[in-house]
Amino acid sequence: MEIKEYVLNRKTEMREEISTLDKAPVLSIISVGYNPASESYMKGKCKDSAEVGITALMSRLPEEATQEQLLNLIKEQNDDPSIDGIIVQLPVPKGIEEKAIIDTIAPEKDVDGFRADSPYTSCTPKGIIDYLAREGFEFKGKNAVVVGRSNIVGRPMAKLLLGKDCTVTIIHSKTPEVEKRWYLAHADVIVVAIGRLGFLDESYELKESAWIVDVGINRGEDGKLHGDCVPNLKVARQTPVPGGVGLLTRLALIENVLEAKKAK
Ligand code: NAD
Repeated sequence: MEIKEYVLNRKTEMREEISTLDKAPVLSIISVGYNPASESYMKGKCKDSAEVGITALMSRLPEEATQEQLLNLIKEQNDDPSIDGIIVQLPVPKGIEEKAIIDTIAPEKDVDGFRADSPYTSCTPKGIIDYLAREGFEFKGKNAVVVGRSNIVGRPMAKLLLGKDCTVTIIHSKTPEVEKRWYLAHADVIVVAIGRLGFLDESYELKESAWIVDVGINRGEDGKLHGDCVPNLKVARQTPVPGGVGLLTRLALIENVLEAKKAK
């Protein structure tokens, strides 16, 4: 199923479920300063929330806000029982540490799943795994290769694939080229999350039965968004950019908010 259609179906199911709850789930979105990319992400999160019946509350702090002001706001919202999930839109201005933010959001409200002790799965890997499962990808015993080892995508992705009984390899910037090619040639599912336009191209030998998940978002010279993989590789499945993992990540966030509400 196309990702767009899958997301629409899942949102319809969620809307129905939320309509049966005593009270709508509440997501708090906190931003500091102004960043055009962040504005568009936040708009997307508000739209998704509205579509399924989640109440999104926006709190905007000025560019010159201090870390203390931000952390105090998070603490207030941690203590507010009417708020189910809290996210702080990243990046934040210089002078504010991302780690301090993540450490301050209460684990049970950390719907981005950034804390190690958050009960929620980090949104991009969760969105990908749920989609692959729904599409019938048979994980057990398959070779999974994750390209990139960041804390928000590569590492949690590898852990989830391992949890699904895949044989998992992470390749990264220090993996020798010849080894990269060897692992990729043996992969049944490849998740590419490095932020290098067109990294995976026709020069790589790939299994025709492979599924490729392209996480990368890169602005091309044409001014448009492109993935880490060139389109139309000769494989069984390849997620598009745009209209792929970005939509799955957005879906996973609202799924986590609903889970937070239901966990109360
Ligand atoms: P990051 O910069 O934190 O990490 C990049 C990783 O790629 C590093 O681990 C590095 O070792 C590895 N790497 C770099 N060059 C490499 C190479 N040539 N070969 C192998 N490994 C290489 O990035 P991130 O936050 O994980 O994001 C990766 C990409 O995914 C970015 O384009 C980002 O915009 C995108 N992203 C998309 C979504 C989404 O919802 N679609 C979500 C998160 C990130």
